[in-house]
This record gives sequence, structure tokens and C-alpha cells, in this order.
Amino acid sequence: MGYVDLHLHTTASDGVMTPSEIVRYAKSKGLQAIAITDHDTIEGLEEGLLEGEKIGFEVVPGVEISAEYSPGSMHLLGYFLDIHDPLLKGNLDYLQKARAERNPKIIENLNRLGVRISYEEVVKASGGGQVGRPHFAQVLIEKGYVRSFQEAFDRFLKKGAPAYADKVRFKPEQAISFIKESGGVAVLAHPKTLGMNSTLQKILLELMEEGLKGIEVFYPEHNSLEVAQFKALAKRYGLLMTGGTDYHGIDKEELDIGVGRGEMRLPYSLVEELKEVRTRT
Ligand code: AMP
Ligand code: ZN
Ligand code: FE
Ligand code: FE
Repeated sequence: MGYVDLHLHTTASDGVMTPSEIVRYAKSKGLQAIAITDHDTIEGLEEGLLEGEKIGFEVVPGVEISAEYSPGSMHLLGYFLDIHDPLLKGNLDYLQKARAERNPKIIENLNRLGVRISYEEVVKASGGGQVGRPHFAQVLIEKGYVRSFQEAFDRFLKKGAPAYADKVRFKPEQAISFIKESGGVAVLAHPKTLGMNSTLQKILLELMEEGLKGIEVFYPEHNSLEVAQFKALAKRYGLLMTGGTDYHGIDKEELDIGVGRGEMRLPYSLVEELKEVRTRT
């Protein structure tokens, strides 16, 4: 059995490879399957699925929804969604509008801070897909305001930084509900970013009430202790374990698809288990 990567971004959101490119890249790296999980959009899935069929490579349709949560951040992954579901499309359209309202605010904030970049430049950096903060970071680097992607976030773009602007989000239960309604399996992404290890159990129980089926245990930013802790929680609550690299291709150059920073090897059985849970519900 081969290896898989169940958390990847394409040009449909803030990754650098097009859906076709990432499917071909995954195959060339010897993986057996991938999931495409762009932020708040499924625009890349049709192309990715088609390319998979063309070259004989398994692509799981997915999405990553940013939910309303504080003080950390909560992302929910949805796997095996029906990409033609009108309810799903409607909800994702709503999130596009939320972004369209937020993005100009980031520009205003940057301009106010004396940073001369325009929204047109950011749109150009996005290559026509959805505009996200990494595209602002890219322009900040290109124009010499910062030296690195991380510096762009730390000085300007991250939550709490001076150019940050929030956007309207769905509540976790709303996101889980529409993932479920469109035939998908809802999984809590990178639990570490909740920043609440002591109350993670309580949060998991609440989300399970809403239909959460799994947690992303294997993730490059999780240390071995955290992986063990998340594994134990998954076992205790009968949750699926998933994993992926969150490869974008820009922000973390030393990170690669399938292997993360070199140590990740996720068996295909993760996909089989996802499929099993999906048919059970
Ligand atoms: P957006 O969906 O437009 O708010 O952008 C979210 C993306 O920005 C994430 O998926 C990451 O790629 C990146 N990002 C968010 N916060 C940080 C951070 N503190 N440091 C580096 N990258 C970040
Ligand atoms: Zn991203
Ligand atoms: Fe995420
Ligand atoms: Fe991600």
C-alpha cells in the first residue's frame, strides 16, 4: 500500500500549483492518493478530479473551512463532498463575499501604515483564484517591504498585527452541518492551532455532537507529543485519524508534498477509513 497526503492547497486558494499540476506532482512523487483541500472553495476540484482520472491517480474532493473561533483558529476539513451540491456552493459563495469585503480593508490598513501596495497587485499575485493573505505577503516581499513570508505575517498580516482585518465566518456547527449535508466527512484540522490543549476534549465532544467524524492527527507542526495526545483522543472518542502536509508551495520551502519536513508517511488506510465512515453515515 502506498502513501497519501490529505491536506493540500492549489491556485484555487493560496497554493502555487494548479490542481492539475499538484495531481501530477503527487503521482510523480510516488503517492497513491491525495485530497485537495483549498480554503473556503471547491473551485479547483473539478479540474483536479478530471486530471486524476486522466492519469489514473486517486483524488479525494475536499475543502478547508475557517470557522468562527477564538482565541486560536479553527479550520474544518470536509472530505468526499458532492461538488455539485447547490447548498455547498451557496455557502461557499457567501464566504467569497466575506473575503471580498475583508481584502480591501487589509489594503486600507497597509496604506495607512505607509505601505504602498494596491489591491490590483494582490489580485495579480493570486493568479485569478481566490485572494488570501499569502498573496498580500507575496506582494510585500516583491516590493521589498519584508524579506520573508513569515515576516509579512508577523509584522502585518497575522491576527493581532496592524494590517489584520477579520472576515465573517461560519460557526463550527454551521460548517460541519453543510459539510455533512453535502455528503462529506467533517474533520478537525490541525487541532494545535486551537491553542487550547486543556479544553480540547470538551471542544471535541461538542463538535462530535454536531457531526464531527475525525481529527487531523498527523501534521507537520504537531510535535511527537502532540501526535500521541491527538491519537489518544481519537482512540478514546472513536474518531477517524487523518493527516496531511498543508503544502502550499510558497510559505514553507523546506516542506514537501507527502513527506512534510521529511518524516511523514501516511498510509492509504487513512483514505479507506474515511470512505468507510462516509458510507456508514
Ligand atoms: P486567509 O484565508 O486569507 O485568511 O489566509 C490564511 C492563510 O494564511 C493560511 O492558510 C496560511 O497559509 C497563512 N497564515 C495565516 N496565519 C499565518 C501566520 N501567523 N504565519 C504564517 N502564515 C499564516
Ligand atoms: Zn493557506
Ligand atoms: Fe488550516
Ligand atoms: Fe490548509
